[in-house]
Amino acid sequence: MNNTTHLLLNWYQDNARNLPWRHTTDPYRIWVSEIMLQQTQVKTVLPRYGQWFKVFPDIATLAAAHPDDVFKQWEGLGYYRRARFIHEAAQQVMANFNGTFPTNFDDILSLKGIGQSTAGAISSFCFQTHTPVLDGNVKRVLSSWQNESLIDKQLWQLAQSWIDKTDTPDLWNQAMMELGATLCGAKKRDCSACPMQQVCKSAFEEPVKKASTIKVKNVYWQVQLFQHEHNHIWLEQRPKNGIWAGLWSPPIIELDKQPTHQPDHIHVLTHRRLHLYISNDHNKPTGKGQWFKSWEGLAVPTGIHKLFEQRVNSN
Ligand code: SF4
Repeated sequence: MNNTTHLLLNWYQDNARNLPWRHTTDPYRIWVSEIMLQQTQVKTVLPRYGQWFKVFPDIATLAAAHPDDVFKQWEGLGYYRRARFIHEAAQQVMANFNGTFPTNFDDILSLKGIGQSTAGAISSFCFQTHTPVLDGNVKRVLSSWQNESLIDKQLWQLAQSWIDKTDTPDLWNQAMMELGATLCGAKKRDCSACPMQQVCKSAFEEPVKKASTIKVKNVYWQVQLFQHEHNHIWLEQRPKNGIWAGLWSPPIIELDKQPTHQPDHIHVLTHRRLHLYISNDHNKPTGKGQWFKSWEGLAVPTGIHKLFEQRVNSN
């Protein structure tokens, strides 16, 4: 293979989107961006990213925060498990690394919620190590270049062989991610604008359409609204595991059967379609919840927010 890395690097220098996490090598800021971007789109992450550092300007503040406050700052990003992990990892940094984000790859990998690819990104962006990123976008780009579907072991080897050829591993990883996020999409490619046409064995071919392997299960939830004379709302903290773990919500009862009436709101997650039905309850609540004057400042799932917005709009 000739060293054609400059083609992609030059393209990246000219075309990279202007994103805030690309103007820093501070490991804390890079780490937070990588975790937020794992399963959430850039446009959703952007406003949350700036806000995060206003509340948690450094790792020590994050580590000392109450879990509810961390969840609150994660609102709208989904996959709240990431918020729990990032909080726990901040505590690991305080306990195991004297409050300084580690510089060694294996130490970075030891932090909660950080896998090989994320560790590769942080380490290369902050410390210029030749550690490849292999997220979904990069896997797709590498598979396109080979014009075959490769198993992870082969992809890691290929990713390593490419990054080893460059003197700027940080920019190489950024450029690979950018190519997969922009020109070389899962559904649409723009091969005519792609700097790697001469390298790519599937240039100008239609992308192979993969049948979705995700099975979405329908779930029917009754959302209990208890009445309180002062217009307070009764909320419970959801269990630590499962959907909306640790967030505040009115009590929810899972129904065995689909009700005959329409749901008040349907909220779609990756593996579940939640059909939400409001039930007004005039009894006294008995569970482990609390009355709240308002849910301002509480981490409430987006599905519950939407449910109530819809209700207010239809009244
Ligand atoms: S030439 Fe086309 S298929 Fe190949 S990497 Fe570029 S955009 Fe993807």
